[in-house]
Amino acid sequence: MRKLIDLHMHSTVSDGTYTPSELVRHAKEKGLSAIALTDHDTAGGVKEFLEEGEKQGIETIAGIEISSLFEGYPEIHVLGYFIDPENKDVMEKLNFLQDARKVRNIKLIARLKELGFEVTWEELEKEANGQLIGRPHFAALMVKKGFVKDTNEAFSKYIGNDGLAFVPKEKLTTPEAVSFLFENGIVPVLAHPILIGMNTDDLIDFIILLKKSGLQGIEVIHSEIPEKESRKYLELAYRFNLVPTGGSDFHGENKPYVKMGVPEVPYDFFLKLKERKRDMFSIMETRKL
Ligand code: AMP
Ligand code: FE
Ligand code: FE
Ligand code: ZN
Repeated sequence: MRKLIDLHMHSTVSDGTYTPSELVRHAKEKGLSAIALTDHDTAGGVKEFLEEGEKQGIETIAGIEISSLFEGYPEIHVLGYFIDPENKDVMEKLNFLQDARKVRNIKLIARLKELGFEVTWEELEKEANGQLIGRPHFAALMVKKGFVKDTNEAFSKYIGNDGLAFVPKEKLTTPEAVSFLFENGIVPVLAHPILIGMNTDDLIDFIILLKKSGLQGIEVIHSEIPEKESRKYLELAYRFNLVPTGGSDFHGENKPYVKMGVPEVPYDFFLKLKERKRDMFSIMETRKL
């Protein structure tokens, strides 16, 4: 049987509905050979994920997906692979990504109050029930408190990117996100390039720019990349000596149309990624010369 993998999935620690252990068990049932956890801006679930991987006898990678900004493009996501949860220094450095969220949430509470909608930190914590507090929790509360009729109205009128109460979250630029990962020994990979909406020439320039910051890979298979496009990204990977990666971007019931392990990703990508992690130290040393 062909060995298959899934290197992109979210747990309850960010915006998925499966806990890290549940993800591992689900992958095991699906017969996947290797998986990676890539929660948004947090590595809070990776320890549990790796431990369950040991137990279930399935190969696991601790990862993250960092949201970044570049020029006028929509949020650009950078995947980072091989975070060591025992490395307190690195784990602490990753916390700054969540601090930006906290600051944004506090500002959003204040802004909503100005508009006459009282939402408290305690209520949000209760709503989030252990998850990182995000706009979906604000929306749910606004519905519960009768401020809006549904979450759609909450986003379109108030907390969505064009809403009256919108407060942007402080973010790294994409080159900053890439070099942050690289310098901490975490393999940086450009996530779902199709969602950036760049034409191929601009994407090539972008890749060249990001390689200067330490980019090591590009996600070529993803639930939102049509098969025909995957071939194009794979060619770019070879051309720029980037490791090709792939995954579903599974979010559980939060994105019910995305299934773990779909589309299929070959095991070979996992081997290449591991190899690149091994080479990272010498790549870093060479760059310092
Ligand atoms: P946050 O990370 O707190 O800024 O929240 C982002 C999340 O809000 C996204 O992952 C979506 O799940 C959700 N979201 C953003 N825009 C909308 C929208 N217009 N309608 C519904 N959900 C949205
Ligand atoms: Fe998500
Ligand atoms: Fe993403
Ligand atoms: Zn994702």
